[in-house]
Amino acid sequence: METSATAALLTRRFIAGKTLEDVLAVVRRLHQQGFRASLDHLGENVCSEEEAEEARAAYESALQALASLGLGATISVKLTQIGLDLGEDLCLNNARRLVELARLTGARVEIDMESSGYTASTLRIVEQLHEETRSVRAVIQAYLYRSEQDIRRLTALRVPVRLCKGAYDEPPSVAMAAKAAVDANYLKLARILLEEGEDPALATHDPAMVRDALEFVRRNGRGAATFEFQMLYGIRRDLQEQLRSDGWRVRLYVPYGNAWYPYFMRRLAERPANVFFIARNLLRA
Ligand SMILES: Cc1cc2nc3c(=O)[nH]c(=O)nc-3n(C[C@H](O)[C@H](O)[C@H](O)COP(=O)(O)OP(=O)(O)OC[C@H]3O[C@@H](n4cnc5c(N)ncnc54)[C@H](O)[C@@H]3O)c2cc1C
Repeated sequence: METSATAALLTRRFIAGKTLEDVLAVVRRLHQQGFRASLDHLGENVCSEEEAEEARAAYESALQALASLGLGATISVKLTQIGLDLGEDLCLNNARRLVELARLTGARVEIDMESSGYTASTLRIVEQLHEETRSVRAVIQAYLYRSEQDIRRLTALRVPVRLCKGAYDEPPSVAMAAKAAVDANYLKLARILLEEGEDPALATHDPAMVRDALEFVRRNGRGAATFEFQMLYGIRRDLQEQLRSDGWRVRLYVPYGNAWYPYFMRRLAERPANVFFIARNLLRA
């Protein structure tokens, strides 16, 4: 299913294409429109060292290509894609090679956050790599109870953070279930980042989160060049465009590659109306 031509037609609003060339064309177009990008080579939870190395190599090619474009793009990497399930040291070594290359090419590696079983090990690796290179960004999920503590520690260490609400199905022992509670925690954590954070990124399509952040920024005189909004490619393009034209920095998370299924399913779960969008495309195809 992941390689079928019909599927490519259905997913193209959210996925930039299969190849590095496809995604670079999108990055160039977005840059012309005033957006920055973060490239996500789709994939997660590999089962062998070879697969982890393949994923790492794909990201190395992406970093080299981005360096020659010079458009300020970053890469977004899931640690399970480069071997976290096979051992923390193996994963750290793969991640280190990417982060070193990013440092040399003036880019940055954003380490996506996965389900809560990986939170502690992911943050250990991010903190280690930050200490070594200063070329990583951590991701914190507002739905986790532990996140305020994590944000305060990362902020004290000057680790840049991307804040999102969280996309995984988590048990009530670790994560808030009610949307209102997650939203309230997002606002609280966003204010901490906007007050004390190093180059923070607010990843959300929620106009209420964006409004609150902008009010806070205006009240506190934080400059537009010192933080950014991040949104997913193809989602809430109206809000992306509005923020950009108002002069705020907006980075789009742009997935590419064949392994789109889990990414795509998380997007459908967040917004069942996307199913209608896909059905419409199917009828047109
Ligand atoms: C740049 C970026 C990086 C991310 N990285 C991670 C990560 O590393 N780990 C992680 O767990 N999660 C990550 N996420 C996903 C995030 O945790 C949420 O699941 C997702 O962004 C939806 O939350 P929201 O803040 O947009 O608010 P919601 O309350 O879910 O949605 C608010 C509004 O946004 C719009 N919207 C939201 N989602 C969609 C959608 N799929 N399709 C269409 N409209 C939609 C709708 O208008 C909705 O009413 C990332 C999100 C972004 C934007």
